[in-house]
Amino acid sequence: QDVKLIRNFCIIAHIDHGKSTLADRLIEMTGSLTDREMSAQVLDNMDIERERGITIKAQTASMQYKAKDGNIYLLNLIDTPGHVDFSYEVSRSLAACEGALLVVDAAQGVEAQTVANVYLAVENDLEIIPVINKVDLPSADPERVMLQIEDELGIDASDAVPCSAKTGIGIEDILEAIVARIPAPADDNDKPLQALIFDSWFDSYLGAVSLIRVMAGTIRKNQRMQMMSTGKNFEVLQVCQLTPKPLETKQLSSGMVGIVSGSIKSVSETRVGDTITDPKNPAKAPLGGFQKAKQMVFGGIFPIDASEYQNLKDSLEKLQLNDASLTTEPESSQALGLGFRVGFLGLLHMDIIQERLEREYGLELIFTAPTVVYRVGLKDGTEHKIENPSKLPDPTTIEYIEEPYVAITIHTPEEFIGGILKILQEKRGIQKDMEYTTSNRVKISYELPMNEMIFDFHDKLKSISRGYASMDYEVIDYRQGDLVKVDTLVNGDKVDALALICHRVQAPFRGRSLCKKLKEILPRQMFQIALQAAIGGKIIARESISAMRKDVTAKCYGGDISRKRKLLEKQKEGKKRMKQIGNVEIPQKAFLAILKID
Ligand code: GDP
Ligand code: MG
Repeated sequence: QDVKLIRNFCIIAHIDHGKSTLADRLIEMTGSLTDREMSAQVLDNMDIERERGITIKAQTASMQYKAKDGNIYLLNLIDTPGHVDFSYEVSRSLAACEGALLVVDAAQGVEAQTVANVYLAVENDLEIIPVINKVDLPSADPERVMLQIEDELGIDASDAVPCSAKTGIGIEDILEAIVARIPAPADDNDKPLQALIFDSWFDSYLGAVSLIRVMAGTIRKNQRMQMMSTGKNFEVLQVCQLTPKPLETKQLSSGMVGIVSGSIKSVSETRVGDTITDPKNPAKAPLGGFQKAKQMVFGGIFPIDASEYQNLKDSLEKLQLNDASLTTEPESSQALGLGFRVGFLGLLHMDIIQERLEREYGLELIFTAPTVVYRVGLKDGTEHKIENPSKLPDPTTIEYIEEPYVAITIHTPEEFIGGILKILQEKRGIQKDMEYTTSNRVKISYELPMNEMIFDFHDKLKSISRGYASMDYEVIDYRQGDLVKVDTLVNGDKVDALALICHRVQAPFRGRSLCKKLKEILPRQMFQIALQAAIGGKIIARESISAMRKDVTAKCYGGDISRKRKLLEKQKEGKKRMKQIGNVEIPQKAFLAILKID
């Protein structure tokens, strides 16, 4: 393959601006797939993803395009995950490209993730081609969006390509722009092999598969490959190009993109960001930018039925085969029994895993509220990472507690500023910057404790702005805070899974709201239930649920048996998601109540 005729590019966009639709259209136009193989959205290949309309795992396609200059180009479209939880994966995908299509919705304009993605693309020295999508919409205003791209992003938009991924307008212009404006990869074919892994997954036949961009040298079938971060060696058993269906080939030379496999047992051996080299003629150094995944959010996962523990364990292991960024550790809770403490990259990652465990593995689970990782310094000079509020050491032994902070950027129409600033203040935010990006849109920059963001922030932002505000965040540092643990007691028993850590000032209020919320959620029993919140031995809030007087079936007028049975069945159904704690049954909802208090 002539390196001069290769173009490696990705598409970056805010969610829903049309990245997937454009990718489909490009693949379709270049005839890489037959119509029959072309499902609605080829690039989003997981079910959950399709339902949420976001791309979770990167998928890639190589296309051949005959340009107006008469040459046939090999275009490698590198799909990137579209959410901040996966920003490390995004950065590795970008490192595999020379250029990026920056898709902006012609009606919506620049949004928070547009900005975040542009920063990443600029950091990776990519040639950026602005594409203004959805010009078919009556509300499209390409001129305004062009100005916005120039003002807000500092990118020359004079040769932005207007298009409609839906109707096909402008698609050929985009292909021509890719060929003309994105540089060919460097010609490093005679150097020792360096291939960047920018995605990897587990395939039941091939084992762990690495999606690579060859940066230097050539990788061939049957040679040995070495992972530079671990020094481990494997035989290359298969080399494929993706069209996007895998198509076997003998080798991938410098500048090319494809997958390699070699009976590798787990994706923990094929880490995103790692460099593959040839052990017989190794590269002097790995490519830059390799990082191990950092779990930012932790939560407990417990089977409702204790006999399902082994199933849960097996299912988590299966998920880990495919996801090197998921960590698990056995956990035993007094309230919930045996389960796992699971580490996630962020809240979306957590949602996805929880959903898959229930949907694909059919498990009935209790999830505890997510928490950030605290750094706790003890008076004896040791420092500990605390991923579980109930494990916070005795306060009298603690010297300091540090919590992670995020820098958050919010884009919003101006009418919602007041409401948004109010939530940010309540959440202990520190204002950094606020500026008008157009005559009626504002960019707000804040720093706030990550813990506060987990508490329902995104939902609140969406509801207060009726969905018009968008946000993006990144973890910046750890800072000391006056933090305390609030325990929850149900009929005098401490429920470890309901413990939370918060700022001392907010503790009484949080304790009260949690008790109130639990009062709404817990079903009444034949006896009174006392709910209390406490810091150490001090009770800071209390509520009680009065005893149930009547049997539910008493409502039926004696005779109607079938109705009675239905009612009892309904009751049983409601019981499924409950956990018996002492003599009180606590439903799943209660464990997440911590997140919904205000
Ligand atoms: P992504 O989140 O960036 O991958 O966005 P999608 O490709 O999933 O598109 C989001 C929505 O916008 C879908 O409902 C698409 O059908 C729609 N869409 C994408 N491109 C266009 C376009 O050019 N015109 C119109 N009218 N709708 C589009
Ligand atoms: Mg998409």
